[in-house]
Amino acid sequence: MTKGTSSFGKKNKVVHIRCRRCGHHSFNLSKGRCAHCGFGETKKWRKYNWIKPKKLLK
Ligand SMILES: [Zn+2]
Repeated sequence: MTKGTSSFGKKNKVVHIRCRRCGHHSFNLSKGRCAHCGFGETKKWRKYNWIKPKKLLK
């Protein structure tokens, strides 16, 4: 009697939160670093030209 995906129960873990440096929802709580910009892992930004922090957008 299952309709659709039956593994929805596993989707209650918070893995990523909003990163305060890049603003993306990519800060890994357990690893303590952002998957998007590398915050917590490196003091420099991950080198990608598509990363545009909100400060620089203005
Ligand atoms: Zn980030």
